[in-house]
Amino acid sequence: MKAEILTVGTELLMGQTVNTNAAEIAQMLAEVGVGVYYQTIVGDNPERLEQAVQTAVSRADLLVACGGLGPTEDDLTRETVAQVLETPLKRDEGWARRLVELFERRGRPFGKNNLRQAMVPEGGILLENPNGTAPGIYLERGDLTVVLLPGPPHEMRALMREEVMPRLALGLAGTQRSAVLVSKMLRVVGVGESRAVELLEPILASQSNPTIAPLAKLAEVHLRITASAPDGAEAERLIAQASEQIRAKLGDAVYGEDETTLEQAVGELLKQQKQTLTVAESCTGGLLSHRLTNVPGSSGYYVGGVVAYSNAFKIAALSVDDEVIEREGAVSDTVATGMARGARSASGADIAVAITGIAGPGGGSAEKPVGLTFIALADDSGEVCRRYEFWGGREQIKARAAQSALELLRRHLLNRGE
Ligand code: AMP
Ligand code: MG
Repeated sequence: MKAEILTVGTELLMGQTVNTNAAEIAQMLAEVGVGVYYQTIVGDNPERLEQAVQTAVSRADLLVACGGLGPTEDDLTRETVAQVLETPLKRDEGWARRLVELFERRGRPFGKNNLRQAMVPEGGILLENPNGTAPGIYLERGDLTVVLLPGPPHEMRALMREEVMPRLALGLAGTQRSAVLVSKMLRVVGVGESRAVELLEPILASQSNPTIAPLAKLAEVHLRITASAPDGAEAERLIAQASEQIRAKLGDAVYGEDETTLEQAVGELLKQQKQTLTVAESCTGGLLSHRLTNVPGSSGYYVGGVVAYSNAFKIAALSVDDEVIEREGAVSDTVATGMARGARSASGADIAVAITGIAGPGGGSAEKPVGLTFIALADDSGEVCRRYEFWGGREQIKARAAQSALELLRRHLLNRGE
């Protein structure tokens, strides 16, 4: 089955509203094994909308059109689709009554235009919208299925889930059903995208089902594995197989699956090893603490942190040696280590992580360029410190520093646990 998603609205075309509906609809269609061949965006313009609908129904078996079902002049989708399909519109009296009552209850004047929202193409089914005034429409005509959905994302989402997906699944239960598509994401850290692709080359080259797509994120790589199979269990089995092959190549660079974040993975290790954590941050300004505390239950291991931005505060709050700062500068191996040691003894935590660096854009020199960062870790076995040179703008450097600190900590915990 070939599907096309047509999203309607000038605000989408101009990029003022991000077209999240198309992405969500595509993902939901994949769940029932429907392949999306085209996504089209068209503005609120009658001629171009008509053309877009015409094109879509000529090349797709399923058209999901979203947006433009409202009561205003520029909401044209319902009428245009009916016109292209040469199908007259009929009023759904039940929905018309419901609209009148709704307006009465809210004490708002009922404009005649509102009744347009109760119009359904002949042979179509009205999909009741519990969250809004414009219902969805489901229409089958020969081999063609047309679905119309309102634009507000929560209305679209509920109708897709409750009304459209079950109907599609039923329709597809017959001969048209090709497969279920299931995806899993493996999350990789400490190995860049090109290196990951290199390591996975033999697997990537031989895969057609499941497919494996690497997605580069900020200082991590996600590998999306997508399997197509007659049923969910078979798809899961194919995914498990591919995921095992990938893990064999990448080892513990794979830190988690699906929605798991690096801070969650680190939190799990801290819990398992019954270790508590504190952090001392300079250039990241609390970002590391923010990420750590985004994890529910982080109070079980995170005792707190210090943002020590100025030299004076590094000395006062973390007992960093003022002579060392004077001699080596705040961005140095010894200061990072001193911050970690100071945070550990002030907090009583088992492990301390400290970050000091130059986030830029100013403040760099030939010897200490923008992006230069030291990350130190202190625990009962002593202190370690690593030097990094991050690139990018200020926020990217901060993000990379926080990410690398989490990865340094994860590595340390993995080694400890062995
Ligand atoms: P409409 O159904 O065209 O009246 O759209 C109503 C509202 O839903 C718009 O003002 C947008 O805020 C939102 N909307 C419409 N289409 C989309 C879309 N494809 N993605 C995200 N939001 C949308
Ligand atoms: Mg609109």
